[in-house]
Amino acid sequence: MFKNQFPFFTNKPEQVYLDSAATTQKHQSVIQAVNDYHCLSSATVHRGAYAIANEATLLYEQARDSTAQLINSPTVEQIVFNSGATESINTIASGLQPHMINGRKILILASEHHANILPWQQLSKRLGLSIEVVNLSAQGQFTQSEYDAFVKQLDTNVAILAMAHVSNALGNIYPVEDICRLARQQRILTVIDGTQAIAHIPVDVENMGCDFYVFSGHKMYAPTGVGVMYGKRDWLDDLLPLRLGGEMITRVSFTDAEYQMSPLKFEGGTPNVAGVIGLGAAAKFLKANILAIQQHEISLFKLLSRGLEKRKGIRLFGNVCACVQHNPEQLGHPNANLALGHSIGLHSFIFNNHHLYDAAALLYQKNIALRVGHHCAMPLMNVLNIAGTMRVSIGCYTDKQDIQRFLHALDTTLAELDENADCLVALKPKQQVNSHCDEVLPIAFNIKQARGWDNQYRQLLLASKALDSLPVEMRTSEYVVFGCESALWIAYYNDQLCAYSQSKIIRGILALLIEKVTQLTVTLAGNRVSDQDNMDAACFDYFAYLTALNLTPFFSVGRRDGIQNAISAIKAKLVKGDN
Ligand code: PMP
Repeated sequence: MFKNQFPFFTNKPEQVYLDSAATTQKHQSVIQAVNDYHCLSSATVHRGAYAIANEATLLYEQARDSTAQLINSPTVEQIVFNSGATESINTIASGLQPHMINGRKILILASEHHANILPWQQLSKRLGLSIEVVNLSAQGQFTQSEYDAFVKQLDTNVAILAMAHVSNALGNIYPVEDICRLARQQRILTVIDGTQAIAHIPVDVENMGCDFYVFSGHKMYAPTGVGVMYGKRDWLDDLLPLRLGGEMITRVSFTDAEYQMSPLKFEGGTPNVAGVIGLGAAAKFLKANILAIQQHEISLFKLLSRGLEKRKGIRLFGNVCACVQHNPEQLGHPNANLALGHSIGLHSFIFNNHHLYDAAALLYQKNIALRVGHHCAMPLMNVLNIAGTMRVSIGCYTDKQDIQRFLHALDTTLAELDENADCLVALKPKQQVNSHCDEVLPIAFNIKQARGWDNQYRQLLLASKALDSLPVEMRTSEYVVFGCESALWIAYYNDQLCAYSQSKIIRGILALLIEKVTQLTVTLAGNRVSDQDNMDAACFDYFAYLTALNLTPFFSVGRRDGIQNAISAIKAKLVKGDN
């Protein structure tokens, strides 16, 4: 519906982009506005008096106006531009003064992004407050029972409630209008992180009555490095600025300064003028289209939900009902907004039988962009007792074909990962290694022969079956290696180097490495080589070996680090003769 308004998709028609919760593609009006600023009115704002400087200032302030309209801010002065949600929350948490705090507790939701946890940790230490967590269900849902328990936590001892409007990890839409109304009755300061809401559902800060509302440009079709902090006037007057420097003062001496009023008080230094102008264009696009976007995303979410629910071996987390459109006539009525169990166009799930990173690696090869991991919500993953999830997130440019292509790619991926062990030639490196020539190292040979990354992955999956698995009881902290986007374990067991990872791809790489180690450390007769030869094996460049097999270019940074760590662990064992 909106896809043709996003030049990215004209340039990359083959790309299925389902990672909009991480960042969005840019709307054509945003690209045009940023480009026009650079080509026609590139100057800094609020200072120069020449024509293009005035033009730049005008465009910058018009963007503030468009942003104020998007979220129904009562005045433009309550819209502060900065680098994004992270900076906004840091500004609030670090700028609160003791007289602004009315209670001893900071309440946060279990699903908060790290950006809405860490600044509060600092504040709690600075002012001696405690942090209390609002729970979700065991499946990460927020329904009536979680809401009822939450309401009980909103007592007079709570000074600050910091929560997302929509969870980035689960997609849950939280009933912030009702919650802010209850919080106001207890004089609790409310900080709402709207980063994942702003591009998907209508936001009205006046109706919500929150004290602060923050979001980032890059999640709403605008550039990276720009964002917004909305605040109620009284709070903005009292809040101390974080960025001290040019433009934000009325008077400065060597020992003292007087600050401007909001918003300039918080916009010290040369701002991201191009970014702000782009954000203004995105705000206009969203203001004009948000109801149509919401409806479009609801229908895609339903399609995705049906597709995932039909498939076996998938466990969904978070709210699963599509969000409902607000009835504008009811706005403002108590409880009119209460919508529990709803989600934006985002699904978060795990596989019962497969490692997330294996599935993701195969999906990436099929041009599907999505995200696996903890999504910067590590405490939530701990509460849910999982390492992470696969997250599929929809934007206004997503279409039916994207969802269908994803579901089809998912089927192929799961079939590849499910392949029956019986029909595979599982090679035991120990039995096959009988020469110092790579050509007869079967795993290395097969990988070298494989053409294309798909085939190489297939070979790694096959190789995983050849790994001498470290027994479960030895997968302990003593033998753990971190950094492969999941833990792995390496140790000698029965005089043999063994390893294990939940990821089949990592198991394949470990099998390949151990095949080489075995070649270098076991004689033709099956005996251990001399200590000197063992040292030589410890000095061998295993990473270069993987590179020569053409495996390294596709490793993510996390995987690369983890594999380096695994190699270091193997070398340490060779040096120590640690068996
Ligand atoms: N809050 C939420 C809910 C988010 O999803 C994100 C980004 N993933 C952030 C805060 C931080 O945003 P940024 O990195 O743009 O500052």
